[in-house]
This record gives sequence, structure tokens and C-alpha cells, in this order.
Amino acid sequence: MEKKWFYEKMSPETVYGYHVTSVHEENTGFQELQIVDHGHFGRMMILDNVVQTTEKDEFVYHEMMTHLPIMALARPAESILIIGGGDGGILQECLRHDSVKRVTMVDIDGRVIEVSKEMLFFKDAFKDPRLELIVGDGAAYVAGEEAQNKKFDVVIVDSPDPVGPAMVLFEAPFYKNISKCLNEDGIMVRQAGVPVFQAPELKEAVEHVQLSFPHVAVYRGVVPVYGGDMAFVIASKNGAPVDQPNGQFTGKYYHTRFHSAAFVLPAFWYDVTGLP
Ligand code: SAM
Repeated sequence: MEKKWFYEKMSPETVYGYHVTSVHEENTGFQELQIVDHGHFGRMMILDNVVQTTEKDEFVYHEMMTHLPIMALARPAESILIIGGGDGGILQECLRHDSVKRVTMVDIDGRVIEVSKEMLFFKDAFKDPRLELIVGDGAAYVAGEEAQNKKFDVVIVDSPDPVGPAMVLFEAPFYKNISKCLNEDGIMVRQAGVPVFQAPELKEAVEHVQLSFPHVAVYRGVVPVYGGDMAFVIASKNGAPVDQPNGQFTGKYYHTRFHSAAFVLPAFWYDVTGLP
């Protein structure tokens, strides 16, 4: 099959290029979805010309978004809500924890889920009986009575960058509703971009989460395809600190000693976020 160049615009004057073979392309009605194969990163999912996940480095992002908040909880996590996450990567990591009895995943785009089940590397996760899969808007879901009555131990916001249908997942009311869906000791986490490229996204995420949570912190992990040193915003509903693990877990990237180390930030991130 003929190869072509795919270019992702990282900033107005920066592009990352990948020499790829196209496997699948469609407009889902919500976004442009592409599946491609790359000689180094393996199979990749791209939405609206932004790389979402790759076979080679998915473990960094998915493990840091999942194991860290789960291990930060003071007791074994039983119920998880994933907002977005249609590729299945976060879901797969949640299911590695035996304590987890229920994972609810709400993605707006049923086609992302179907194509991921067929063509990506998290297929088996979708077969787990602990999964409750909902196709719908994550912001509307957390605003509803069903989610607020169900209550979750951990909410993971695995959204794309703030464009298109994901815009609502960056607004202040969204976090307020997440807080209402959490148990009293519950924890939420969201990705907040790579500050070298997207510092305003991190600043805004911290400010908005602070409006609804008494304890907000930032940690980091290095995700090559997202542009390097990535920020994650984490918050606890009861104000408990989240920088120490409450048990042992070792993945391929996350491990127990790495948990607290991930909260030591580059100096300029403190200026961006205003965190001490
Ligand atoms: N790790 C990824 C990243 O930052 O590059 C995010 C990957 S995941 C595939 C993002 C998912 O969020 C997509 O499947 C998309 O359909 C979903 N999404 C976008 N807006 C949403 C919304 N309002 N509610 C629920 N899901 C949404």
C-alpha cells in the first residue's frame, strides 16, 4: 500500500510529520477519524488531524491517567467513570485493578468505539462484563440524576483537546457536576496538554477545577506523540492529598515510587498554574 505523509499542527508554526499507510478514514458526524500504520509508532488513531493514541507509546498516557488516581484513593477503587476514552486505552488499564467492580464509559462518538473495537489494540477490554458503555455527551451525563445517584470513586476525563464536541469538557460547570458524581473521598483527573505548546490549557484547567474542588494538584508524564512533558490535573473532593500511593502497583510506566516523583514539576509550570 502506498505511504503518505500525515502532518499534525502542534502550534501555528510547528508540525510533526509521520510517514504512514492509511488503514481507514471516515467522517463520523462528530469528527474526522483516521486509522494509520507507522513504522515506529505502530497503529495510530487520529481525530480531526490530532493523534489520539499510538500502539508504541499509549501506555505512558493511559497508565498515568488511570493508575495514579486509582492508587491515590485511600481505599481500593470500586467504581470508575471515564468521560471520552472511546479508544479503550483507559478502560483497559482500569480493568487491571481487581478491586474495580464497575467501569462506566461515556463517549459521544459511537463510531470511535466501533472502529477501536475492530482495529485497535484494546479490543478485549470491551468484552469485560464490568463495563457499562454509554454513547452520549459526557457533560450532559454528569449533569444528570443517573450519574449523580450512582456515585463513583474515580472520574477520568480522557478528552481530546478543547475543540468541537470536547469544548464542554473544559468548562467550569462540568467539574462541578463531576464533584456531585463522586463519593465523598473521590478523585478526578483530566489531561491538560503539553505546556510547552499549550500552557493556557493547563492554566485554565487548574482554575476551573479549583472552583469545585478543595484540593487540586498537577503531575506529569512524558508522552512523545503529544509533544513531550504532559500535564495532568488531579483533584480530591474531600481535600485529601493525592501525591502518595496507597498500595503497590507496577505497570510499564507507572510504579509506586514514580507516583510521588510525578508531582515534582518543571519550574515554569508553577508560574503557569499558580500552584505552590
Ligand atoms: N488520549 C486522547 C488525547 O488526548 O489525545 C483522548 C482520546 S479519546 C479517543 C477522546 C474521546 O473523547 C473521543 O473518542 C471523542 O469521541 C470523545 N469526546 C469528545 N467530546 C466528548 C463529549 N462531549 N462527551 C463524551 N466524549 C467526548
